[in-house]
Amino acid sequence: MMLDSMVKVENLKKSFGHLQVLNGINLEIKKGEVLAIIGPSGSGKSTLLRCVNYLEEPTAGNVYIEGEKVDPVKNINRIRQKVGMVFQHFNLFPHMTVLDNLTIAPIKVKKMDKAQAEAIAMNLLERVGLKDKVKAYPAQLSGGQKQRIAIARALAMQPDVMLFDEPTSALDPEMVKEVLNVMKDLAHDGMTMMVVTHEMGFAREVCHRVVFIDEGQVVEEGPPQEIFTNPRQERTRSFLSKVL
Ligand code: ADP
Ligand code: MG
Repeated sequence: MMLDSMVKVENLKKSFGHLQVLNGINLEIKKGEVLAIIGPSGSGKSTLLRCVNYLEEPTAGNVYIEGEKVDPVKNINRIRQKVGMVFQHFNLFPHMTVLDNLTIAPIKVKKMDKAQAEAIAMNLLERVGLKDKVKAYPAQLSGGQKQRIAIARALAMQPDVMLFDEPTSALDPEMVKEVLNVMKDLAHDGMTMMVVTHEMGFAREVCHRVVFIDEGQVVEEGPPQEIFTNPRQERTRSFLSKVL
């Protein structure tokens, strides 16, 4: 793991009307680091990820990507290309084949030529074990396959960091593993990852660090063996007793 900063979140606050969802989050992810974000439903985990790539504009505070402060006017489009995101509900383009799903953004946004975009796409399909689905449409895929395609699609933009928002929560149990295995391979290849998850096994085995968030605040963070076996905060203990 390198020591360079990939993502830094500084005193991040986010409100929706009168509801303050993030109450001053400070967090830094180094290059090559795999971070698990855990916490109760409604604690602000999705909002935090969405603020990192400015799908939501923070109410206060700053986000830095590779040391560069994100500015919604000056650099958001360029910086966003460095950040891949995978959602709970896949969000594939339903009217496009798998291949087109993977190549459209590289061609349109990165101005990559079609042949190169397709070569990268085929490579990624091989990596996620779905080369035979290149001409399929999303409706012809299982949930686990759709999510693996969604991961490949995000990777097709060649991001420097990947954000995962509960990528396995909408899947039938037998499909969870195939998606986690793809994520595990990605982690072992050195991808920087922020993963919101309820898969405590994954957090424990694959992630370098775990952050527990409650009520829009970082309550506790540390290596998985510490957080899971010897949490310091009562709120962490109470949460873990419900999910482990
Ligand atoms: P988590 O992902 O930890 O379950 P979220 O970040 O999705 O939590 O939501 C945190 C809180 O913010 C919840 O109370 C949710 O209802 C609220 N919230 C999230 N997005 C919006 C929005 N776009 N408008 C209003 N409230 C929102
Ligand atoms: Mg969420």
